[in-house]
Amino acid sequence: MEHQRKTPRIAVYPGSFDPVTKGHMDIIQRASRQFDKLIVAVLNNLSKNPLFTVDERKELLGTVTAHLPNVEIDSFRDLLVNYMDLKQAHVIVRGIRSVTDFEYELQLASTNHKLNSEVETIFMMTNPKYSYLSSSVVKEIASFHGDVGDLVPPEVEKALKEKFANR
Ligand code: ADP
Repeated sequence: MEHQRKTPRIAVYPGSFDPVTKGHMDIIQRASRQFDKLIVAVLNNLSKNPLFTVDERKELLGTVTAHLPNVEIDSFRDLLVNYMDLKQAHVIVRGIRSVTDFEYELQLASTNHKLNSEVETIFMMTNPKYSYLSSSVVKEIASFHGDVGDLVPPEVEKALKEKFANR
């Protein structure tokens, strides 16, 4: 019998990552162990008013995940299910911090399932250490020149200091 090649298990972790936090990093690290390849995809969403450009967010993500060989950084401006098709990925990874996250995520996952029933959303529970942590909280603290050293990787802390240096 001819040996069948196994299809690689590719997952996509989509989000704004404005900027990437230690909460995101925890999910990236854990998810990268579960799949052959994990694509961290920055959503290029015109309706939000981001602090970092998509390129800046991608660059920061690239730096802080450089030690994870099966993690790839990308961005997309399309329906997530179309992007998944393009990347031949079948699994969406999302993180859950709270019941509020759950309600929103359930709606997203159901919508994506309706658009393409082959796509599976997998939820990872937050590390309790980071259950309160969001990019918005980080930006709020950094805007008042507060200490975000425990919340984001050092490269992100530096980038935040530069952003808010003259504000
Ligand atoms: P979005 O704008 O798509 O919510 P985010 O960058 O805020 O993008 O979040 C991307 C994903 O990471 C979401 O599934 C979110 O719930 C999850 N996430 C964000 N912060 C944390 C955290 N501290 N712990 C676990 N998951 C998180």
